[in-house]
Amino acid sequence: MKARFGGFVPTMGAVVVALGLLVGVTGCANKESSELVVYSARIEALIKPIFDRYTAETGQKIRFVTDDAGPLIERLNAEGANSQADILLTVDAGELWHAADRGLLKPIQSDVLNANIPESLRDPQGRWFGFSIRARTIVYSTERVKPEDLSDYAALAEPRWKGKLCLRTSKKVYNQSLVAMLIAEHGEPKTEEIVRGWVANLAAEPFSNDTLLMEAIAAGQCDVGLVNTYYFGRLVRDQPDLPIKLFWADQAGQGVHINISGAGVTAHSPRAEAAQKFLEWLSQPEAQQFFAGQNLEYAASPSIEPDPIVKAWGDFKRSPMNVVQAGELQAQAVKLMDRVGYR
Ligand code: FE
Repeated sequence: MKARFGGFVPTMGAVVVALGLLVGVTGCANKESSELVVYSARIEALIKPIFDRYTAETGQKIRFVTDDAGPLIERLNAEGANSQADILLTVDAGELWHAADRGLLKPIQSDVLNANIPESLRDPQGRWFGFSIRARTIVYSTERVKPEDLSDYAALAEPRWKGKLCLRTSKKVYNQSLVAMLIAEHGEPKTEEIVRGWVANLAAEPFSNDTLLMEAIAAGQCDVGLVNTYYFGRLVRDQPDLPIKLFWADQAGQGVHINISGAGVTAHSPRAEAAQKFLEWLSQPEAQQFFAGQNLEYAASPSIEPDPIVKAWGDFKRSPMNVVQAGELQAQAVKLMDRVGYR
């Protein structure tokens, strides 16, 4: 994905940073501008509607740049105190953890955020908060697998699934965070055994995205896999007859592993007060429902009804572990996946 800012579409990496610095990010905004600036790893289609709604309700204008979290974090770092950005929004807890770890996010104390966002979905130091929950669970072929055959993530390493498992690439942060959470839950030796077992069971080279993986299951290339539920929702919304179904992993144990899409106020935010106000608004029930519903996710704030499509998948037990561990253990997870040959 390329960075987008209005009609300005630069190339990746260092060039993004350099150009960003040269044009002062917005090309026109300055430190005195009242427009909020958001760096977002969540795609435009999912965030513009929420920004538009906020502007309509409050009059607060919002500009945004979208790109992958890595380049956005590098850009924030390179811009330093000159950055125009007020908010960093990502689709993975590990990314927010990295940004916070590098001192790029400002700790904020907000009774509203602390009340609306559960403790396990936010940074203990208040540098970032989860605003939607993404569940990563098992998907299976209804033609070749019975739900009774399934249980937890570890069981997919058993020899019975040899040649039947499909996974997305280990380069994707979702899998890095999942493995990090497995390390937090089981310890490193046991997690290594699990991931080694997964690799031994692969039916095909890891896929570049969750949708291709599910299409491979539907086409008979493999029988089971791991996906974020909203990709399942999007796929079956378009093709309701696909012979695949979700299975809630580890319901007798820790529960389904979850991640967040979340945000924090940047360390050098020129409009930190307005930025905090926006995040507080995002934690309120109506905004929560809208933000999560846009992408068929679950709201971070409890007792918000999911979209009817999502609700139809039924309730499930979620892992109560703090998502901060996805960040803390991510480097360890990446090394582990590399060691066992998970590409
Ligand atoms: Fe995604």
